[in-house]
Amino acid sequence: MSAESGNSKFTETENEEFRNSVGTMDETGKRKWVFPRKPKGKYTNYRNYTSYVLLALFFGIPFLKINGNPFLLINVIDRRFFILGQPFYLQDFFILALGAVTSVIFVMLFTVVFGRIFCGWLCPQTLFMEMVFRKIEYWIEGDRNKQMKLDRQEWNAEKVRKRATKWGVFLLISLIISTFMFMYIVGYEQVFQIMREGPSEHPLKFITMIFFTLTFYFVFAWLREQVCTLVCPYGRLQGVLIDKQTINVYYDFRRGEGRSKWRNNEDRKAAGKGDCIDCHQCVVVCPTGIDIRNGQQLECVNCTACIDACDEVMEKVGLPKGLIRYATESEIENREKFRFTSRMKATTVILALLIGFLGFLMYDRGSMEAKFIKPAGSTFFVKNGKITNTFIYTLLNKSNEKKILYIRVISPSNAEITYFGSEKIILKGDEILKGNINISFPEEDIKLSKQNMVIGVFDEKGTLVDSFDTTFEGPFKLVL
Ligand code: SF4
Ligand code: SF4
Repeated sequence: MSAESGNSKFTETENEEFRNSVGTMDETGKRKWVFPRKPKGKYTNYRNYTSYVLLALFFGIPFLKINGNPFLLINVIDRRFFILGQPFYLQDFFILALGAVTSVIFVMLFTVVFGRIFCGWLCPQTLFMEMVFRKIEYWIEGDRNKQMKLDRQEWNAEKVRKRATKWGVFLLISLIISTFMFMYIVGYEQVFQIMREGPSEHPLKFITMIFFTLTFYFVFAWLREQVCTLVCPYGRLQGVLIDKQTINVYYDFRRGEGRSKWRNNEDRKAAGKGDCIDCHQCVVVCPTGIDIRNGQQLECVNCTACIDACDEVMEKVGLPKGLIRYATESEIENREKFRFTSRMKATTVILALLIGFLGFLMYDRGSMEAKFIKPAGSTFFVKNGKITNTFIYTLLNKSNEKKILYIRVISPSNAEITYFGSEKIILKGDEILKGNINISFPEEDIKLSKQNMVIGVFDEKGTLVDSFDTTFEGPFKLVL
Protein backbone atom coordinates (compact mmCIF):
# COMPACT_ATOMS: atom_id res chain seq x y z
CA MET A 1 0.00 0.00 0.00
CA SER A 2 1.39 3.41 -0.78
CA ALA A 3 0.09 6.92 -0.65
CA GLU A 4 1.44 10.31 -1.56
CA SER A 5 0.74 12.87 1.05
CA GLY A 6 1.62 16.48 1.52
CA ASN A 7 -1.40 17.96 -0.24
CA SER A 8 -5.09 17.15 -0.43
CA LYS A 9 -4.63 15.00 -3.52
CA PHE A 10 -4.24 11.33 -2.65
CA THR A 11 -3.17 8.51 -4.88
CA GLU A 12 -3.03 4.94 -3.70
CA THR A 13 -1.61 1.89 -5.32
CA GLU A 14 -2.07 -1.53 -3.78
CA ASN A 15 0.82 -3.92 -3.84
CA GLU A 16 -0.60 -7.21 -2.66
CA GLU A 17 2.38 -9.34 -3.73
CA PHE A 18 3.16 -10.20 -0.13
CA ARG A 19 -0.17 -12.03 0.11
CA ASN A 20 1.06 -14.64 -2.39
CA SER A 21 3.45 -16.16 0.14
CA VAL A 22 3.75 -16.84 3.83
CA GLY A 23 6.25 -14.55 5.55
CA THR A 24 8.03 -17.52 7.12
CA MET A 25 8.60 -19.46 3.87
CA ASP A 26 10.97 -18.84 1.01
CA GLU A 27 10.09 -19.21 -2.68
CA THR A 28 10.87 -22.95 -2.56
CA GLY A 29 8.44 -23.47 0.34
CA LYS A 30 11.28 -23.98 2.81
CA ARG A 31 10.79 -22.54 6.25
CA LYS A 32 12.48 -19.23 7.03
CA TRP A 33 13.37 -19.27 10.69
CA VAL A 34 12.25 -16.09 12.48
CA PHE A 35 14.80 -14.40 14.73
CA PRO A 36 12.79 -11.54 16.23
CA ARG A 37 14.69 -8.76 17.99
CA LYS A 38 13.98 -8.53 21.71
CA PRO A 39 11.09 -6.06 22.08
CA LYS A 40 11.12 -3.27 24.64
CA GLY A 41 8.84 -0.38 25.41
CA LYS A 42 5.55 0.61 27.01
CA TYR A 43 3.39 -2.16 25.55
CA THR A 44 6.05 -4.81 26.14
CA ASN A 45 6.07 -3.79 29.81
CA TYR A 46 2.27 -4.04 30.04
CA ARG A 47 2.39 -7.43 28.35
CA ASN A 48 5.10 -8.57 30.78
CA TYR A 49 2.93 -7.58 33.76
CA THR A 50 -0.08 -9.34 32.24
CA SER A 51 1.97 -12.46 31.61
CA TYR A 52 3.21 -12.55 35.24
CA VAL A 53 -0.41 -12.57 36.41
CA LEU A 54 -1.45 -15.21 33.87
CA LEU A 55 1.52 -17.47 34.63
CA ALA A 56 0.88 -17.13 38.37
CA LEU A 57 -2.75 -18.14 37.71
CA PHE A 58 -1.74 -21.09 35.51
CA PHE A 59 0.70 -22.48 38.07
CA GLY A 60 -1.42 -21.50 41.10
CA ILE A 61 -4.95 -22.56 40.15
CA PRO A 62 -4.38 -26.36 40.50
CA PHE A 63 -3.63 -25.77 44.20
CA LEU A 64 -6.64 -23.47 44.79
CA LYS A 65 -9.63 -24.91 46.61
CA ILE A 66 -13.04 -23.48 47.42
CA ASN A 67 -14.84 -25.19 50.32
CA GLY A 68 -12.51 -28.15 49.83
CA ASN A 69 -13.33 -28.42 46.11
CA PRO A 70 -10.76 -27.80 43.37
CA PHE A 71 -11.16 -24.33 41.81
CA LEU A 72 -10.85 -25.88 38.35
CA LEU A 73 -10.74 -29.57 37.48
CA ILE A 74 -11.62 -31.11 34.13
CA ASN A 75 -11.33 -34.81 34.92
CA VAL A 76 -12.59 -36.37 31.70
CA ILE A 77 -11.23 -39.77 32.77
CA ASP A 78 -13.42 -40.11 35.89
CA ARG A 79 -16.03 -37.62 34.67
CA ARG A 80 -15.50 -35.21 37.59
CA PHE A 81 -15.72 -31.53 36.77
CA PHE A 82 -15.27 -28.48 38.98
CA ILE A 83 -15.52 -24.93 37.70
CA LEU A 84 -14.96 -22.07 40.17
CA GLY A 85 -15.15 -24.68 42.94
CA GLN A 86 -18.63 -25.78 41.83
CA PRO A 87 -19.04 -29.48 41.02
CA PHE A 88 -20.58 -30.23 37.63
CA TYR A 89 -22.10 -33.59 36.83
CA LEU A 90 -23.25 -35.24 33.63
CA GLN A 91 -26.72 -33.90 34.56
CA ASP A 92 -25.33 -30.35 34.29
CA PHE A 93 -23.92 -30.81 30.84
CA PHE A 94 -26.59 -28.72 29.21
CA ILE A 95 -25.21 -25.81 31.27
CA LEU A 96 -21.68 -26.50 30.05
CA ALA A 97 -23.01 -26.81 26.48
CA LEU A 98 -24.88 -23.51 26.85
CA GLY A 99 -21.76 -22.04 28.42
CA ALA A 100 -19.68 -23.22 25.45
CA VAL A 101 -22.14 -21.68 22.96
CA THR A 102 -22.16 -18.42 24.97
CA SER A 103 -18.35 -18.44 25.00
CA VAL A 104 -18.21 -18.86 21.20
CA ILE A 105 -20.61 -15.90 20.75
CA PHE A 106 -18.53 -13.95 23.26
CA VAL A 107 -15.27 -14.63 21.38
CA MET A 108 -16.84 -13.72 18.02
CA LEU A 109 -18.35 -10.46 19.25
CA PHE A 110 -15.15 -9.63 21.09
CA THR A 111 -13.11 -10.22 17.93
CA VAL A 112 -15.45 -8.16 15.74
CA VAL A 113 -14.75 -5.11 17.91
CA PHE A 114 -11.43 -5.71 19.64
CA GLY A 115 -9.68 -7.80 16.99
CA ARG A 116 -6.89 -10.15 18.09
CA ILE A 117 -6.25 -8.68 21.51
CA PHE A 118 -6.77 -12.20 22.86
CA CYS A 119 -3.93 -13.56 20.67
CA GLY A 120 -1.38 -11.00 21.77
CA TRP A 121 -2.23 -10.71 25.43
CA LEU A 122 -4.04 -13.79 26.71
CA CYS A 123 -3.52 -16.80 24.42
CA PRO A 124 -1.51 -19.58 26.15
CA GLN A 125 0.47 -20.17 22.93
CA THR A 126 1.70 -16.54 22.78
CA LEU A 127 2.08 -16.42 26.55
CA PHE A 128 4.41 -19.43 26.74
CA MET A 129 6.14 -18.76 23.42
CA GLU A 130 6.95 -15.08 23.88
CA MET A 131 7.06 -14.76 27.65
CA VAL A 132 8.76 -18.02 28.61
CA PHE A 133 10.51 -19.86 25.78
CA ARG A 134 11.61 -16.79 23.80
CA LYS A 135 13.00 -15.15 26.93
CA ILE A 136 15.00 -18.27 27.73
CA GLU A 137 16.32 -18.19 24.17
CA TYR A 138 17.43 -14.55 24.52
CA TRP A 139 19.04 -15.45 27.83
CA ILE A 140 21.04 -18.39 26.40
CA GLU A 141 21.70 -17.36 22.79
CA GLY A 142 21.46 -13.56 22.99
CA ASP A 143 19.41 -11.14 20.91
CA ARG A 144 18.55 -11.42 17.18
CA ASN A 145 22.00 -10.79 15.69
CA LYS A 146 23.74 -13.21 18.04
CA GLN A 147 21.10 -15.87 17.37
CA MET A 148 21.52 -15.44 13.60
CA LYS A 149 25.28 -15.65 13.91
CA LEU A 150 25.02 -18.78 16.05
CA ASP A 151 22.64 -20.31 13.53
CA ARG A 152 25.06 -19.69 10.66
CA GLN A 153 28.18 -20.90 12.41
CA GLU A 154 29.63 -24.41 12.36
CA TRP A 155 28.72 -26.94 15.05
CA ASN A 156 31.63 -25.92 17.26
CA ALA A 157 31.83 -26.22 21.07
CA GLU A 158 30.00 -22.93 21.65
CA LYS A 159 27.07 -23.84 19.40
CA VAL A 160 26.76 -27.35 20.89
CA ARG A 161 26.85 -25.95 24.44
CA LYS A 162 24.29 -23.19 23.76
CA ARG A 163 21.90 -25.35 21.76
CA ALA A 164 22.12 -28.29 24.20
CA THR A 165 21.47 -25.95 27.15
CA LYS A 166 18.53 -24.31 25.34
CA TRP A 167 16.93 -27.58 24.27
CA GLY A 168 17.50 -29.09 27.71
CA VAL A 169 15.82 -26.13 29.44
CA PHE A 170 12.99 -26.20 26.85
CA LEU A 171 12.44 -29.89 27.60
CA LEU A 172 12.37 -29.22 31.33
CA ILE A 173 9.87 -26.36 30.95
CA SER A 174 7.73 -28.56 28.67
CA LEU A 175 7.73 -31.23 31.36
CA ILE A 176 6.67 -28.67 33.98
CA ILE A 177 3.84 -27.37 31.76
CA SER A 178 2.73 -30.93 31.01
CA THR A 179 2.76 -31.79 34.75
CA PHE A 180 0.60 -28.77 35.56
CA MET A 181 -1.77 -29.56 32.68
CA PHE A 182 -2.14 -33.00 34.23
CA MET A 183 -3.03 -31.37 37.54
CA TYR A 184 -5.98 -29.69 35.81
CA ILE A 185 -7.16 -33.16 34.76
CA VAL A 186 -6.57 -35.39 37.77
CA GLY A 187 -5.76 -32.92 40.55
CA TYR A 188 -2.41 -32.11 42.14
CA GLU A 189 -2.79 -34.77 44.86
CA GLN A 190 -2.98 -37.54 42.28
CA VAL A 191 -0.10 -36.11 40.24
CA PHE A 192 2.12 -36.08 43.35
CA GLN A 193 1.00 -39.61 44.15
CA ILE A 194 1.81 -40.80 40.61
CA MET A 195 5.26 -39.19 40.93
CA ARG A 196 5.88 -40.88 44.29
CA GLU A 197 4.78 -44.30 43.10
CA GLY A 198 6.71 -44.11 39.83
CA PRO A 199 6.21 -45.34 36.25
CA SER A 200 6.02 -49.04 37.19
CA GLU A 201 2.74 -48.39 39.08
CA HIS A 202 1.28 -45.97 36.52
CA PRO A 203 2.84 -46.82 33.13
CA LEU A 204 -0.03 -45.38 31.05
CA LYS A 205 -0.07 -42.06 32.91
CA PHE A 206 3.69 -41.72 32.54
CA ILE A 207 3.50 -42.45 28.81
CA THR A 208 0.74 -39.81 28.48
CA MET A 209 2.86 -37.30 30.39
CA ILE A 210 5.89 -37.98 28.15
CA PHE A 211 3.68 -37.62 25.08
CA PHE A 212 2.40 -34.21 26.24
CA THR A 213 5.91 -33.09 27.22
CA LEU A 214 7.25 -33.95 23.76
CA THR A 215 4.24 -32.25 22.12
CA PHE A 216 4.86 -29.01 24.06
CA TYR A 217 8.56 -29.24 23.27
CA PHE A 218 7.80 -29.69 19.56
CA VAL A 219 5.36 -26.74 19.59
CA PHE A 220 7.61 -24.29 21.44
CA ALA A 221 11.02 -25.38 20.19
CA TRP A 222 10.13 -25.97 16.54
CA LEU A 223 6.56 -25.19 15.42
CA ARG A 224 6.38 -21.78 17.15
CA GLU A 225 4.67 -19.01 15.13
CA GLN A 226 3.37 -21.63 12.68
CA VAL A 227 0.73 -22.51 15.29
CA CYS A 228 -0.71 -18.97 14.92
CA THR A 229 -0.17 -18.60 11.19
CA LEU A 230 -1.07 -22.08 9.91
CA VAL A 231 -2.74 -24.19 12.60
CA CYS A 232 -4.94 -22.10 14.90
CA PRO A 233 -8.59 -22.01 13.68
CA TYR A 234 -9.22 -18.75 15.55
CA GLY A 235 -6.45 -17.13 13.53
CA ARG A 236 -8.03 -18.43 10.30
CA LEU A 237 -11.38 -16.92 11.32
CA GLN A 238 -9.99 -13.39 11.44
CA GLY A 239 -10.68 -12.84 7.76
CA VAL A 240 -14.42 -13.13 8.29
CA LEU A 241 -14.65 -11.58 11.74
CA ILE A 242 -12.82 -8.30 11.40
CA ASP A 243 -13.90 -5.28 9.38
CA LYS A 244 -12.91 -1.63 9.00
CA GLN A 245 -14.29 -0.81 12.44
CA THR A 246 -12.26 -3.48 14.27
CA ILE A 247 -9.46 -2.36 16.57
CA ASN A 248 -6.14 -3.92 15.57
CA VAL A 249 -2.47 -3.09 15.33
CA TYR A 250 -2.22 -0.87 12.22
CA TYR A 251 0.46 1.01 10.42
CA ASP A 252 -0.75 4.54 9.61
CA PHE A 253 0.02 4.41 5.89
CA ARG A 254 -1.44 7.90 5.33
CA ARG A 255 1.19 9.31 7.62
CA GLY A 256 4.00 6.87 6.91
CA GLU A 257 4.12 6.64 3.10
CA GLY A 258 6.23 7.42 1.00
CA ARG A 259 8.76 5.98 3.19
CA SER A 260 12.42 6.87 2.82
CA LYS A 261 15.60 6.81 4.88
CA TRP A 262 16.15 9.42 7.54
CA ARG A 263 18.36 12.39 6.74
CA ASN A 264 19.35 14.83 9.43
CA ASN A 265 17.97 18.39 9.06
CA GLU A 266 15.75 17.44 6.15
CA ASP A 267 12.20 18.83 5.96
CA ARG A 268 10.47 15.57 5.06
CA LYS A 269 7.09 17.20 4.47
CA ALA A 270 8.54 19.69 2.03
CA ALA A 271 10.38 16.84 0.30
CA GLY A 272 7.05 14.99 -0.03
CA LYS A 273 8.20 12.19 2.25
CA GLY A 274 6.17 10.31 4.83
CA ASP A 275 7.09 9.67 8.46
CA CYS A 276 8.26 6.07 7.93
CA ILE A 277 12.05 6.17 7.78
CA ASP A 278 12.18 2.63 6.39
CA CYS A 279 14.37 1.42 9.25
CA HIS A 280 12.74 -2.05 9.30
CA GLN A 281 12.71 -2.10 13.09
CA CYS A 282 8.99 -3.03 13.06
CA VAL A 283 9.85 -5.98 10.81
CA VAL A 284 12.81 -7.34 12.76
CA VAL A 285 10.88 -7.46 16.05
CA CYS A 286 7.90 -9.29 14.56
CA PRO A 287 7.67 -12.85 15.93
CA THR A 288 5.58 -13.96 12.95
CA GLY A 289 8.01 -12.53 10.41
CA ILE A 290 5.67 -10.07 8.68
CA ASP A 291 5.89 -6.44 7.63
CA ILE A 292 2.95 -4.62 9.23
CA ARG A 293 3.39 -1.84 6.68
CA ASN A 294 1.80 -4.15 4.10
CA GLY A 295 -1.48 -3.76 5.96
CA GLN A 296 -3.56 -6.09 8.13
CA GLN A 297 -2.45 -9.71 7.72
CA LEU A 298 -3.76 -12.95 9.17
CA GLU A 299 -0.28 -13.68 10.54
CA CYS A 300 -0.36 -10.67 12.86
CA VAL A 301 -1.07 -11.77 16.45
CA ASN A 302 -1.30 -8.21 17.76
CA CYS A 303 1.70 -8.70 20.01
CA THR A 304 2.43 -4.91 19.91
CA ALA A 305 6.21 -5.46 19.49
CA CYS A 306 6.16 -3.37 16.28
CA ILE A 307 4.33 -0.52 18.09
CA ASP A 308 7.10 -0.32 20.68
CA ALA A 309 9.85 -0.64 18.06
CA CYS A 310 8.42 2.13 15.88
CA ASP A 311 7.67 4.42 18.84
CA GLU A 312 11.31 4.12 19.90
CA VAL A 313 12.43 5.10 16.39
CA MET A 314 9.96 8.01 16.21
CA GLU A 315 11.19 9.27 19.57
CA LYS A 316 14.81 9.13 18.42
CA VAL A 317 14.17 11.14 15.23
CA GLY A 318 11.77 13.56 16.93
CA LEU A 319 8.59 12.58 15.07
CA PRO A 320 5.25 11.92 16.83
CA LYS A 321 4.80 8.40 18.16
CA GLY A 322 1.93 6.18 17.03
CA LEU A 323 2.88 5.60 13.40
CA ILE A 324 2.04 1.99 14.26
CA ARG A 325 -0.72 1.84 16.86
CA TYR A 326 -3.98 0.29 17.97
CA ALA A 327 -6.55 1.75 15.59
CA THR A 328 -9.40 0.86 13.26
CA GLU A 329 -8.83 0.72 9.53
CA SER A 330 -11.47 3.40 8.86
CA GLU A 331 -9.87 5.64 11.49
CA ILE A 332 -6.60 5.51 9.54
CA GLU A 333 -8.20 5.82 6.11
CA ASN A 334 -10.34 8.80 7.13
CA ARG A 335 -7.72 10.39 9.41
CA GLU A 336 -10.09 10.32 12.36
CA LYS A 337 -9.20 10.24 16.03
CA PHE A 338 -9.98 7.02 17.87
CA ARG A 339 -13.56 7.03 19.16
CA PHE A 340 -15.25 4.49 21.37
CA THR A 341 -18.19 4.21 18.95
CA SER A 342 -21.81 3.30 19.80
CA ARG A 343 -21.17 -0.10 18.15
CA MET A 344 -18.26 -0.74 20.51
CA LYS A 345 -20.31 0.41 23.50
CA ALA A 346 -23.27 -1.79 22.48
CA THR A 347 -20.99 -4.80 21.94
CA THR A 348 -19.28 -4.21 25.29
CA VAL A 349 -22.70 -4.17 27.01
CA ILE A 350 -23.68 -7.41 25.22
CA LEU A 351 -20.35 -9.00 26.25
CA ALA A 352 -20.95 -7.96 29.87
CA LEU A 353 -24.48 -9.42 29.71
CA LEU A 354 -23.11 -12.68 28.27
CA ILE A 355 -20.59 -12.95 31.11
CA GLY A 356 -23.43 -12.27 33.57
CA PHE A 357 -25.54 -14.96 31.88
CA LEU A 358 -22.68 -17.46 32.13
CA GLY A 359 -22.21 -16.60 35.82
CA PHE A 360 -25.96 -17.03 36.38
CA LEU A 361 -25.90 -20.44 34.68
CA MET A 362 -23.02 -21.54 36.89
CA TYR A 363 -24.63 -20.58 40.16
CA ASP A 364 -28.30 -21.21 39.51
CA ARG A 365 -28.06 -24.98 39.46
CA GLY A 366 -29.46 -25.61 42.93
CA SER A 367 -27.55 -27.63 45.48
CA MET A 368 -29.68 -30.78 44.99
CA GLU A 369 -31.01 -32.79 42.13
CA ALA A 370 -33.56 -35.57 42.42
CA LYS A 371 -34.81 -37.99 39.78
CA PHE A 372 -37.48 -40.69 40.10
CA ILE A 373 -37.52 -43.25 37.29
CA LYS A 374 -39.62 -46.41 36.97
CA PRO A 375 -37.59 -49.62 36.54
CA ALA A 376 -37.63 -50.75 32.90
CA GLY A 377 -40.77 -52.73 32.04
CA SER A 378 -42.51 -52.10 35.38
CA THR A 379 -46.06 -50.70 35.53
CA PHE A 380 -48.22 -51.15 38.67
CA PHE A 381 -49.51 -53.81 41.00
CA VAL A 382 -52.69 -54.00 43.11
CA LYS A 383 -52.66 -55.33 46.67
CA ASN A 384 -54.99 -54.85 49.66
CA GLY A 385 -57.08 -52.23 47.85
CA LYS A 386 -54.03 -50.15 46.89
CA ILE A 387 -52.36 -49.52 43.57
CA THR A 388 -48.57 -49.36 43.79
CA ASN A 389 -45.78 -48.12 41.49
CA THR A 390 -42.08 -48.72 42.11
CA PHE A 391 -39.54 -45.93 41.52
CA ILE A 392 -35.75 -45.86 41.49
CA TYR A 393 -34.59 -42.56 42.91
CA THR A 394 -31.27 -40.83 42.25
CA LEU A 395 -30.35 -38.07 44.66
CA LEU A 396 -27.37 -35.87 43.82
CA ASN A 397 -25.91 -33.57 46.44
CA LYS A 398 -24.05 -30.82 44.57
CA SER A 399 -22.90 -29.09 47.75
CA ASN A 400 -20.13 -29.94 50.21
CA GLU A 401 -22.48 -30.23 53.18
CA LYS A 402 -24.15 -33.37 54.41
CA LYS A 403 -27.92 -33.37 53.80
CA ILE A 404 -30.68 -35.20 55.65
CA LEU A 405 -33.60 -35.68 53.29
CA TYR A 406 -37.14 -37.02 53.17
CA ILE A 407 -39.17 -38.02 50.13
CA ARG A 408 -42.84 -36.95 50.01
CA VAL A 409 -45.46 -36.99 47.26
CA ILE A 410 -46.61 -33.40 46.77
CA SER A 411 -49.55 -34.16 44.50
CA PRO A 412 -51.92 -35.93 44.32
CA SER A 413 -52.57 -36.23 48.07
CA ASN A 414 -53.19 -39.49 49.93
CA ALA A 415 -49.99 -41.15 48.76
CA GLU A 416 -48.26 -43.70 50.91
CA ILE A 417 -44.55 -44.35 50.53
CA THR A 418 -42.86 -47.63 51.38
CA TYR A 419 -39.09 -47.33 51.87
CA PHE A 420 -36.58 -50.14 51.32
CA GLY A 421 -34.49 -48.91 54.22
CA SER A 422 -34.82 -45.85 56.41
CA GLU A 423 -37.24 -43.01 55.67
CA LYS A 424 -34.44 -40.62 56.61
CA ILE A 425 -31.93 -40.39 53.79
CA ILE A 426 -28.43 -39.18 54.64
CA LEU A 427 -26.51 -37.81 51.70
CA LYS A 428 -22.87 -36.79 52.09
CA GLY A 429 -21.46 -33.74 50.32
CA ASP A 430 -20.79 -34.27 46.61
CA GLU A 431 -22.49 -37.71 46.75
CA ILE A 432 -24.89 -39.52 44.41
CA LEU A 433 -27.26 -41.99 46.07
CA LYS A 434 -29.64 -44.41 44.42
CA GLY A 435 -32.48 -46.34 46.05
CA ASN A 436 -36.00 -47.76 45.60
CA ILE A 437 -39.38 -46.70 46.95
CA ASN A 438 -42.93 -47.89 46.39
CA ILE A 439 -45.65 -45.26 46.08
CA SER A 440 -49.25 -46.41 46.65
CA PHE A 441 -52.69 -44.81 46.39
CA PRO A 442 -56.09 -46.19 47.44
CA GLU A 443 -57.63 -47.93 44.43
CA GLU A 444 -60.62 -45.58 44.33
CA ASP A 445 -58.32 -42.51 44.05
CA ILE A 446 -56.76 -43.66 40.77
CA LYS A 447 -59.15 -42.75 37.98
CA LEU A 448 -56.72 -42.69 35.04
CA SER A 449 -54.32 -45.24 33.64
CA LYS A 450 -51.62 -42.54 33.76
CA GLN A 451 -51.87 -39.62 36.08
CA ASN A 452 -49.52 -36.75 36.78
CA MET A 453 -47.62 -36.88 40.03
CA VAL A 454 -45.08 -34.55 41.70
CA ILE A 455 -42.57 -36.04 44.10
CA GLY A 456 -40.71 -33.69 46.43
CA VAL A 457 -37.48 -34.01 48.39
CA PHE A 458 -37.49 -32.08 51.67
CA ASP A 459 -34.75 -31.26 54.16
CA GLU A 460 -34.91 -31.61 57.94
CA LYS A 461 -36.70 -28.28 58.33
CA GLY A 462 -39.38 -29.35 55.88
CA THR A 463 -38.08 -27.07 53.12
CA LEU A 464 -38.53 -28.36 49.59
CA VAL A 465 -35.05 -28.78 48.05
CA ASP A 466 -36.08 -30.30 44.72
CA SER A 467 -39.14 -31.76 43.03
CA PHE A 468 -39.68 -34.13 40.12
CA ASP A 469 -42.66 -34.40 37.77
CA THR A 470 -43.57 -37.93 36.75
CA THR A 471 -46.64 -40.12 36.16
CA PHE A 472 -48.36 -42.75 38.28
CA GLU A 473 -49.75 -45.76 36.43
CA GLY A 474 -52.97 -47.58 37.20
CA PRO A 475 -55.38 -49.98 35.48
CA PHE A 476 -57.23 -48.78 32.38
CA LYS A 477 -60.78 -47.74 33.32
CA LEU A 478 -63.52 -47.06 30.85
CA VAL A 479 -65.07 -43.73 31.82
CA LEU A 480 -68.64 -43.37 30.48
S1 SF4 B 1 2.91 -7.14 12.94
FE1 SF4 B 1 3.38 -6.20 14.91
S2 SF4 B 1 1.69 -6.76 16.25
FE2 SF4 B 1 1.59 -8.08 14.45
S3 SF4 B 1 2.67 -9.93 15.09
FE3 SF4 B 1 4.16 -8.61 14.04
S4 SF4 B 1 5.09 -7.41 15.67
FE4 SF4 B 1 3.27 -8.32 16.53
S1 SF4 C 1 9.67 1.01 12.62
FE1 SF4 C 1 8.33 2.68 12.02
S2 SF4 C 1 9.72 3.99 10.87
FE2 SF4 C 1 10.77 2.05 11.01
S3 SF4 C 1 10.15 0.97 9.15
FE3 SF4 C 1 8.68 0.40 10.74
S4 SF4 C 1 7.02 1.86 10.44
FE4 SF4 C 1 8.78 2.69 9.34
